[in-house]
Amino acid sequence: LITNLDKAQTYLQRFRKEGVLNHIDGQAMAADNGEQFEVISPIDLEPIAKVARGGASDIDKAAKAAKASFAEWAAMPGKERKKLLHRIADAIEARAEEIAFVESVDTGQAIRFMSKAALRGAENFRFFADRAPMARDGESLRANNQLNITARSPIGPVGIITPWNTPFMLSTWKIAPALAAGCTIVHKPAEFSPLTARLLVEIAEEAGLPRGVWNLVNGFGEDAGKALTEHLDIKAIGFVGESRTGAMIMKQGADTLKRFHFELGGKNPVVVFDDADFDRAADAAVFMIYSLNGERCTSSSRLLVQSSIYDEFTAKVAEKAKNIKVGHPLDPETVIGPLIHPVHEKKVLSYFDIAPKEGATVATGGKKAEGFTGCYVEPTLFTNVTNDMRIAREEIFGPVLSALKFDSEEEALNIANDTEYGLTGYVWTSDLTRALRFTDQLEAGMIWVNSENVRHLPSPFGGMKSSGIGRDGGDWSFDFYMETKNIAFAT
Ligand code: NAD
Repeated sequence: LITNLDKAQTYLQRFRKEGVLNHIDGQAMAADNGEQFEVISPIDLEPIAKVARGGASDIDKAAKAAKASFAEWAAMPGKERKKLLHRIADAIEARAEEIAFVESVDTGQAIRFMSKAALRGAENFRFFADRAPMARDGESLRANNQLNITARSPIGPVGIITPWNTPFMLSTWKIAPALAAGCTIVHKPAEFSPLTARLLVEIAEEAGLPRGVWNLVNGFGEDAGKALTEHLDIKAIGFVGESRTGAMIMKQGADTLKRFHFELGGKNPVVVFDDADFDRAADAAVFMIYSLNGERCTSSSRLLVQSSIYDEFTAKVAEKAKNIKVGHPLDPETVIGPLIHPVHEKKVLSYFDIAPKEGATVATGGKKAEGFTGCYVEPTLFTNVTNDMRIAREEIFGPVLSALKFDSEEEALNIANDTEYGLTGYVWTSDLTRALRFTDQLEAGMIWVNSENVRHLPSPFGGMKSSGIGRDGGDWSFDFYMETKNIAFAT
């Protein structure tokens, strides 16, 4: 831990000195009006840096830069774009330690996960780099007396708005396909964790990305974010964040008829039948809610267990949760670090009051972790939860799991689907026919059977219901960032 603390101080020095600047048309700069806001570390609530507080005029400048650089970037042959995006991936790998340390202090996420997240960011770039040469590919469709040719071209400058959880990895997941498609971008990162977005744009330009292709404007949702969604030159918005923010953004973008891609909230079920591999299911249930502080859109926050194994299974999960190390995120042993911010911590802690009043039992946790100044909460399991309780319905976004009981497959399905969300689902059973039947009716964009969340990047990523609109991954991303044109020739 001591070595890691020293390293973190070295990596943070530049932010303490120069602050977190915007980056427009190849230039690092303060906000137009000179305003700043402070970002604090959730580890000790101490300030880390002053951040440029961008507003409408900064967004306008960034959108104009993105527009001016669009034609050249869009015209670059896919093969060249591929090389460049691979160079960005190389540069991310070369600075992976710095990224992981900065992200860990900025977000409170444990360093053991952030090291992987930095490398996954590079992988996202490589994945879309390899597909860049195919982005424009269309097809030809023959009809009577007609030959149709379809072609794709990048839609134009796009806005990318990202949340505070795993901000580095998520930003690469949204930005890499936009660049591979030939779009230029304006990125507005979350105000709670803006540090690594600054590193990312710097890395990309050092790797050779032409100026103006990628612009960064920091600031709050209600000013910089809003201005981006309303800007006429911005043709589409890729947004990751809360469902109600998605709804607001859709309204804000209506007048300019924006195209939207939304990756939103979740209240994801993990369903454990009594024929499941008990130990593997328990490990996965624990991993999917307590890793990354539970601040993860795909986390399984509702545990549905068949009544015959409910007591034994929840006892096992509680025992595992009790043994999870909560601590300083730079400690290599730590699994759960502090939650992102006191505002979010307050929200998570509020459920510790609500749950017992509604009749749930605290099997483990249920309070602030002792001995820390930062936003640390104990990994928590509530049992005897019913699906009408707020802990079963609302996205808590912390290391808080609610265990519900079911008797039949039909009841499990009803409970699992009785939610406004539909992002992920996890099903544990050794009966393949049941797994097929159940997943066919489960309302979720991504489902894993007998597994935790293991991503295969070419597969579609996204949610249904209030969890999102659209899919990312491979061609799904290109469909969003590109226009499809059909040309019909008479024969
Ligand atoms: P948030 O919606 O509060 O903020 C996300 C971003 O939107 C921030 O950059 C914020 O400044 C901006 N924003 C806020 N109001 C805006 C407005 N009116 N116009 C434009 N921009 C605005 O979300 P958060 O609290 O930062 O992140 C947590 C949420 O993100 C959770 O709900 C989580 O489930 C969701 N999430 C979803 C996915 C997914 O893939 N489905 C992935 C990660 C996080």
